[in-house]
Order: sequence, then structure tokens, then C-alpha cells
Amino acid sequence: MFETTIAGSLPKPFWLAEPGKLWPQWKAQGAELEAAKRDATVLVLKEQEDAGLDIVTDGEQSRQHFVHGFLEAVVGIDFDHKVKMGIRNNRYEAMVPQVTGALRLRSRVHRMEATLARAHTKKKLKITLPGPMTIVDTVADRYYGDRRSLAMAFADLLNDEARALQADGVDVLQFDEPAFNVYPDEVNDWGIAALERAAEGLSCTTAVHICYGYGIQANLDWKKSLGDEWRQYEQIFPALAKSSIKQVSLECANSHVPMELMSLLVNKDVLVGVIDVASDAIETPEQVADVIGKALDFVPRQRLLPCTNCGMAPMNREIALRKLNALVQGAALARTRHG
Ligand code: ZN
Repeated sequence: MFETTIAGSLPKPFWLAEPGKLWPQWKAQGAELEAAKRDATVLVLKEQEDAGLDIVTDGEQSRQHFVHGFLEAVVGIDFDHKVKMGIRNNRYEAMVPQVTGALRLRSRVHRMEATLARAHTKKKLKITLPGPMTIVDTVADRYYGDRRSLAMAFADLLNDEARALQADGVDVLQFDEPAFNVYPDEVNDWGIAALERAAEGLSCTTAVHICYGYGIQANLDWKKSLGDEWRQYEQIFPALAKSSIKQVSLECANSHVPMELMSLLVNKDVLVGVIDVASDAIETPEQVADVIGKALDFVPRQRLLPCTNCGMAPMNREIALRKLNALVQGAALARTRHG
């Protein structure tokens, strides 16, 4: 009961990449960088095991950014001529690569970290991939002409990599779709179809993570504009409940998401965000257990997995580690309260 996991990313050590940044520069190059990525991956696995997490990840130590880490292995994308573009419905601007031709994978994307992690842990292993809609929202399209076609093209590539990751021994494949909270009409129109295409044929556990973004200032400002009740999930959960995706990861700690919206996720495992990644305040086990207790009004105990609200990539490492401990201790407390 209450298996614990994280959304996916963890802060990178200072010797791997610039700390505290969403798009950090690597600290090494070539073979030295590859070795540093491997070392960091083993390190964060050990730290998750020591904290007592039940489902561990590679911490996304090998990718500069959760979307661009995948795109770097795709042919048809021009990374040499990035352009400034408003993303997430113009919430903030980012330097994004351009889609300039038909898309195909140049090579495997996450084989190194998946096989390395598999060799170093007996715990359940989760690897994340960006979802098709979120990728489409983080590139400048100069070739496909419409977002649905581009999403389906990316979904094909994601499916190839997802099947290969499953063969590498990955237990959970999670697609990150923060864009789902921004474009509800498109989610219902083609977003979930593209997501299911990306997950087609997988027999391992599949998950989708839908959040209100990392704790960066643009997101904090956006959240302030959303009012007292954040009802974005209400528009997409009914369709998601009918999809083939098995788990849904959502934001709950310190958020204005009405808890009852989780009851829309009929028959899904719900990864309930009980750790706020936009605050450096360390949750107490009691706070974590309280959120779990409230969620239990709407999610059966056997389908509730305590999780972080979102990735921890831009956070301070020490704070992130203390939050992992709080997550595990809070879940243990919830087990004694509700077991
Ligand atoms: Zn997130």
C-alpha cells in the first residue's frame, strides 16, 4: 500500500551541470561528460534507495532538459538554429529547435541510463519520456504544418524508444504532459490519441504526468492567475479515464486543485503529488500523511501512490533529498494511520 515514487527528475550534481537551472550547461564534454552522466545516474539511484522509495528513476541525469533530451536523438530537427518562442500558450519564452524535415530516430535515446539503472537496482524502475503534445509545444514547426500531424509523428518515435526501454527491463514508462493542463480542447481532440499511440503495444505499466510545471517564476505567476480553484484536470480526466494509460501523476501538495477531481480517474492508479517542488520548505511526515488521507476520500488505497508534484531538476540537491525522506516517512505514517 502507498508505493512511493517521484515524478522523474532530480537535481544534478554540480560537477555534472550548472545547478539551479532548467536548461543547465554541462560541466564536461565528450567521453568525460558521458562518464559523469553515468556516475550521477548511479548516485541518484543509491540516494533514492537510501531514502526508501519503492519505484526509482534515473533522475534524468543524462538529459539537459526533459523535452530536448529526447529531441537531440531525432533527425529532422535543427538544433543549430534555435529560435525564441512563447511556449505553454505563451506563458514564457524559450529557445527552441526547429523541425525542418521528416522525423526519425538517429539512434536509441535513453539506452545507456536505462540499462545502467537496471543493472544497479532491484527496485521497480521508471523512465520518463516527454509526451507528444508537450514536445509539439516545445519546438518550432517548419515542416509538418499542423500540431496533430506533428504530434503523431513524434508519437511514432516515442513508441519505438518506449518499446526498446521496456526490453531494457524498465517497469514503468511515464510520459510527461504538462501541456495537457494548457490546451484542454486539443487534449480531447488529439492529445490523448497521440499519447496512446506513443504507448501502443507496451505491456509494462504506463503513466502520464500532468502538472502545473516546475517551480520557476513564470509558472508561479501563472498559478497566481488561475484563481482559487484549479479545475483544469476536470476537462481532461474523463477522457483520460477511458484511455489505455494505467497511471496518472498529478499535482496536489500546496495546490488549488480540488481533491474531488481525482475521483474522475476511474480505475487508474493515481500518483498523488504530496511534495511541493516549488517551495524549499521541507514537508513534515504529518503534512504528507494528511494529503494522502484527504486523497483517500477519492482514490482507493490500493490505487494511491504518493509522489512529488513535479520534477525536482532545478532544485537544491540537499533540499530535494530531504523532501524524498519526507515523502517516504509520510507514506509510512499514512500506512500506520490507514493500514
Ligand atoms: Zn511536472
